[in-house]
Amino acid sequence: MSEKKQFQAESQRLLDLMIHSIYTHKEIFLRELISNASDAIDKLSYLSLTDENVGLSREDFEIRLAVDKEARTLTVSDNGIGMDASELEHNLGVIADSGTLRFRQQLEEGKGDTDVIGQFGVGFYSAFMVSDHITVVSRKYGAEQAYRWDSDGVDGYTVEPAERASVGTDVILHIKPDSEEEPDEYGRYLREFELRGLVRKYSDYIRFPIRMEVTRSRRVEGSPDDKPEYQDVQEIETMNSMVPLWQRRKSEVTKEEYDEFYETNFGEYTPPQSVITVSVEGAVTYKALLFIPSARPGKWGTEDFQPGLELYSAGVMIMDKCADLLPDQFNFVRGVVESPDLNLNISRELLQHDRQLKIISTNLEKKIKAELERMLRDQRDEYEKFWKNFGIQLKVAALDRYGAKKEALQDLLLFYSSTEQKPVTLAEYVARMQPEQKYIYYATGDKLEAIDHMPQTELLRERKMEILYFTDSVDDFLAEMFRDYKDKPFRSALDGDLELDEAKPEEAEAHQEAFRFLKDCLGQRVNEVKASARLKTHPVCLSSGQGLSFEMEKYFNAVQPDMGMKAQRILEVNTAHPAFLRLEAARIAEPEKAKKYAEILYNQALLIAGLPVEDPTAYTDLLVSLWD
Ligand code: ADP
Repeated sequence: MSEKKQFQAESQRLLDLMIHSIYTHKEIFLRELISNASDAIDKLSYLSLTDENVGLSREDFEIRLAVDKEARTLTVSDNGIGMDASELEHNLGVIADSGTLRFRQQLEEGKGDTDVIGQFGVGFYSAFMVSDHITVVSRKYGAEQAYRWDSDGVDGYTVEPAERASVGTDVILHIKPDSEEEPDEYGRYLREFELRGLVRKYSDYIRFPIRMEVTRSRRVEGSPDDKPEYQDVQEIETMNSMVPLWQRRKSEVTKEEYDEFYETNFGEYTPPQSVITVSVEGAVTYKALLFIPSARPGKWGTEDFQPGLELYSAGVMIMDKCADLLPDQFNFVRGVVESPDLNLNISRELLQHDRQLKIISTNLEKKIKAELERMLRDQRDEYEKFWKNFGIQLKVAALDRYGAKKEALQDLLLFYSSTEQKPVTLAEYVARMQPEQKYIYYATGDKLEAIDHMPQTELLRERKMEILYFTDSVDDFLAEMFRDYKDKPFRSALDGDLELDEAKPEEAEAHQEAFRFLKDCLGQRVNEVKASARLKTHPVCLSSGQGLSFEMEKYFNAVQPDMGMKAQRILEVNTAHPAFLRLEAARIAEPEKAKKYAEILYNQALLIAGLPVEDPTAYTDLLVSLWD
């Protein structure tokens, strides 16, 4: 007997929970094992396309269930790719999948016994919910030696050499004993009828036959009609229909079936937000089943995320993440494409250049867009949920290649509106514009509340003009790149001139001296000091003039600090504000104090614009010095 090894700490905790869980969906273990078997067959069947040594063709692959009632074992076998000793150790001894971790957290938080949990992909370990011992015998493709992995659960596992006549894997579950209170709790998994039901319920779409030897009562041949005789015979039954979901008409598939497939196949935890089916016959014939996730897939938005759809041809999985099938803006979409037209002998690399793939992806792009438009039109709440998850992707993609996708994406974008207080489309904004309004106004800031209080927007609000709130760092760039929407140009509310035909404040001339004084005090730090047409209750604000905005300045300084990008700084002054009047008075009577006022007003303006105060200590000292 080889030395017993310990499970990795995480795995051990999960196992412990599995074994002791009172989790009501124990039956899902079968789905998990069958799904692993099917993946293993997928891998070998793909190899068989290019490697004739495999010696198996599509029809030869199968998953077998076998029950031994005496020994209380249920065996799930496959003739897939198999595992060698180190794979047995690494794949079954370690939790690699973040989903499993999340499952554990939920169980620990006591949320484990809800229906939701039934949808978790918990993998191989789930078999410990029904077994007190598991043996895995596996022989890897290309190897002569097989290995055997054994474990009672938490106290570790062993791996040692074994025999297996052919390539593939047997997972042998020693089913737990039943208790007196629940005499059929585990024993049910040794019954044909129960197993057949579970296969139909969870694994019907698996594309390889799931077979089991069953006992049937058959009429004895030649027995008389009036007194027929029966005998039990052993037969091999294929329990699943093997018709994958994407080959079936949408009307014939239930929501539960789609949800189940999506969650098992893509390891997701919540049902998809939307299901799109495509069936095309023509230049390229194919079927597609696509899902818009209701939550961001794990790793989405990080460099480790691999977008793409599963690609099948004639029942064989060619690629599990074919990125060429998905346009970048929809990289979050999960799904499957199957086309009999793809040439199976081409390698993955060549496949990437396939003209047929281009045709399919162009068409899928239209279908996904149409589905999003439908949601936006008919299910606004759903669309807003979608937008929270993936809106940023649409925006970033709209910027890509100098706005090449502007036309395609602009009507799917949402921005928070000052008047509606919820996200709105550009079309809705334009439809509500005031008769004299020439521009689509937007204000940029880190948070909605900060923008709510921006003094620069006071005039727009007074004039009942809607303002779009730009809170994502890409938003400013979008406005810059788009320039306009349906001939209505974008204009920042922080821009020096809002072109609202506002009469210049009358006393502006009278204050030229004061403005010159401010400019002298502040030097190069401001480009201009002027009377503000838009400030109503606040003393000062900064505007940036046309060109680089403050948000862009912040962005560039964050990503490329040495570039020293700087937006223009125009100090706008509310000449009716008491603070300004104090400065005016001090300028003549107490010039030193007036200089301090100038400094404070400038720093206040920086703070309001969300820009860093240049010397916080000096500024604080200055404020405090005016207390007496
Ligand atoms: P997941 O399937 O989510 O990766 P599992 O815990 O179910 O997690 O399985 C872990 C790994 O063990 C699989 O990714 C696979 O590499 C390997 N494995 C499990 N079952 C089989 C099998 N029947 N044949 C070959 N490899 C398998």
